[in-house]
Amino acid sequence: MDLGIAGKRALVCASSKGLGRGCAEALAEAGVDLVMNARGLQALEATAADIRARHQVNVVTVAADITTEAGRAAVLAHGPFDILVTNAGGPPPGMWSDWGREDFIKALDANMLTPIALMQAVLPGMMAKGWGRVVNITSVSVKSPVAVLGLSNSARAGLTGFVAGTSRQVAGKGVTINNLLPGIHATDRAIALDTAVVKAKGISMDDAIAERAATIPAGRYGTAAEFGAACAFLCSQHAGFIVGQNILLDGGATNATM
Ligand code: NAP
Repeated sequence: MDLGIAGKRALVCASSKGLGRGCAEALAEAGVDLVMNARGLQALEATAADIRARHQVNVVTVAADITTEAGRAAVLAHGPFDILVTNAGGPPPGMWSDWGREDFIKALDANMLTPIALMQAVLPGMMAKGWGRVVNITSVSVKSPVAVLGLSNSARAGLTGFVAGTSRQVAGKGVTINNLLPGIHATDRAIALDTAVVKAKGISMDDAIAERAATIPAGRYGTAAEFGAACAFLCSQHAGFIVGQNILLDGGATNATM
């Protein structure tokens, strides 16, 4: 399917690895020029070089912490953007009693206030042009809490509330905002969480992965490529009537009728 977005320009945050990279690759395959971001320069440059080699698109890299004001200013300097994919690392796991105010502020900065600030920066330009696409990478934890991820559950719920109202305010100008909710995907983040299970339960990594995969009706972890394809579709010309949705990509793990 021709996604109809060749020649558009996208900012894909936190995209040297994992789900962000999957989104960047799928958009590049659709002919979208990219501004890619991550903190670590080496992996970012390697991923950008790989994408440039496989797709005929321009790729600009900005090594910066997207959760800081300076980091956001550095990426936004490469606008204007037709497409924004927000993403950042997820907060650490723990117990509800572990976290103090500073931990919450950090999680809110990363997974709520950063995507909101980025949207506030790019939405006026998109609305003036009459076309724009925003996809926020959030989490299955928005629909179904992951008990050990209390910081994530809290911060992402706040972002979801903001998107629910704002998406309705900008849709009339041809701009859509939607959230993609990853369940378990085979990325470094999943390995980090599995490593915590290995330590806590004293089991092998293979057993920890098998245990988690068994909780997913699809019987496996998702891939970054599958995730990226869903993101590219939401950014396509065909998705202009999809507004303010929270779309689960979890292999059926969330046991709900709707
Ligand atoms: P990942 O494989 O660990 O990749 C994270 C990417 O983000 C890397 O490119 C990393 O590069 C970059 N990054 C992290 N913090 C950043 C920051 N402050 N500024 C700029 N770039 C940053 O993670 P993932 O699995 O793709 O997860 C992406 C998001 O989805 C996370 O918020 C995660 O919590 C959420 N999620 C993931 C899963 C899953 O199963 N994978 C499930 C639910 C939710 P640098 O480290 O070099 O900055």
